[in-house]
Amino acid sequence: MADVVVIGAGAVGCATALHLKQAEPSLDVVVVEPDYTYARAATGKGTGGVRQLFTRPENIWLSQYTLDAIEDWENWGAVDGKLAPELNWRANGYMFVVGKHDRDTLAANFETQQNNGVVAEWLDQKNLADRYPELVTNDLAAGVLSTRDGWLDPKVFFSVLRAKADATGAAFVADRVVDLAQDGTRVRSVALASGQVTTAEAVINTAGVDAPDLAAKVGMHIPVEPMRRHEHYIETSADVDHLPFVKDVHGLAVHAFRHGVSVGLVDFDYPGGEDFTVDPTDYTNRVHPALLERFDGLGKLTLRDSWTGLYDQNRLDGNMIIGNWPGHLDNFFVACGFSGHGFMHALGVGRGLTELALHGEYQTLDLSRMGYQRILDGKRYGEEGVR
Ligand SMILES: Cc1cc2nc3c(=O)[nH]c(=O)nc-3n(C[C@H](O)[C@H](O)[C@H](O)COP(=O)(O)OP(=O)(O)OC[C@H]3O[C@@H](n4cnc5c(N)ncnc54)[C@H](O)[C@@H]3O)c2cc1C
Repeated sequence: MADVVVIGAGAVGCATALHLKQAEPSLDVVVVEPDYTYARAATGKGTGGVRQLFTRPENIWLSQYTLDAIEDWENWGAVDGKLAPELNWRANGYMFVVGKHDRDTLAANFETQQNNGVVAEWLDQKNLADRYPELVTNDLAAGVLSTRDGWLDPKVFFSVLRAKADATGAAFVADRVVDLAQDGTRVRSVALASGQVTTAEAVINTAGVDAPDLAAKVGMHIPVEPMRRHEHYIETSADVDHLPFVKDVHGLAVHAFRHGVSVGLVDFDYPGGEDFTVDPTDYTNRVHPALLERFDGLGKLTLRDSWTGLYDQNRLDGNMIIGNWPGHLDNFFVACGFSGHGFMHALGVGRGLTELALHGEYQTLDLSRMGYQRILDGKRYGEEGVR
């Protein structure tokens, strides 16, 4: 018997356990995770980018909540009397760049961002060329630079998050949820691969790419599938340490990493399914040409490493789905479909899930527009322009 069962101990599951126990220390919180090496999990495969450059206010607010923790790292990252480990936080900012076709969208998003507390700078083509001589700007119309943003070592951040959740007394068990038992509008218990059955007052499904299969067991149909995503480490002969995290509308994402850059070019049309294969042509045919189209001042480029991970891609609108199935399931909450934004949003999502589970409604950030109702209604609530 548990008060709350959390399914999956990735970034979102750990953040949920942490917030549940912080809100109510006497709660009996059980986190179920089959693989503490996180071989398939998205957590740990990410690039650690944290940005406020979103179109939807909820995504901006969630990033701001995480930035507060990062900027208070010395305190936030110290657990059980141990000093906070080096986070490698690089507050170089995030910069979105667009051509003339997407300029108006960028301008509208810039306004939304400013209205939601983002300190950002509008850069025209000349500003971009003057400030970043290594950038190819002849096809660019404008850029927006958000100076508070940056990137960190996601493994370090996650190790602290996990340790903080552990320190609260949440129980982390090594097992897999294989079934859910429903009683009217409530999920009564979870069945584990070990044969154990745990009853719970609330069940929170933070199982990443496996969240939809679990939700389907109680009739929730979630348009989220695993989508392979490559990342490449490229050594550069030029010094690129001053560059912000640069993204363009084609999905190219470039940031300084080790002795060069880490680069991804998201292929949103890549078919869904669990696929971790590293395809060398992703670099030769897609990333290398795209990088040369956007930068001509990186010097000699040498590919040093390539890896893949899975996005839990929301095929409806590329944004997360958080909450229960209104009117049908009262105590079963889902958070998935992060589509590449989940690490930077995990903390705020964990807090939101805690509020839903304990109070039945949001108490800090209202994330209801990100709920399951829009899926049922087929209403997109996605990002516009650079995603
Ligand atoms: C290459 C790449 C780059 C990325 N870059 C960024 C970035 O820069 N910034 C950013 O914010 N995000 C980024 N992301 C996305 C981010 O990594 C994810 O959104 C985030 O880690 C998702 O965390 P999660 O806890 O929801 O899922 P996961 O980390 O996948 O965790 C889910 C857990 O659930 C467990 N589980 C599954 N089934 C069951 C079951 N039946 N019972 C119990 N447990 C189960 C799994 O074992 C897993 O550990 C990137 C992702 C990739 C792949």
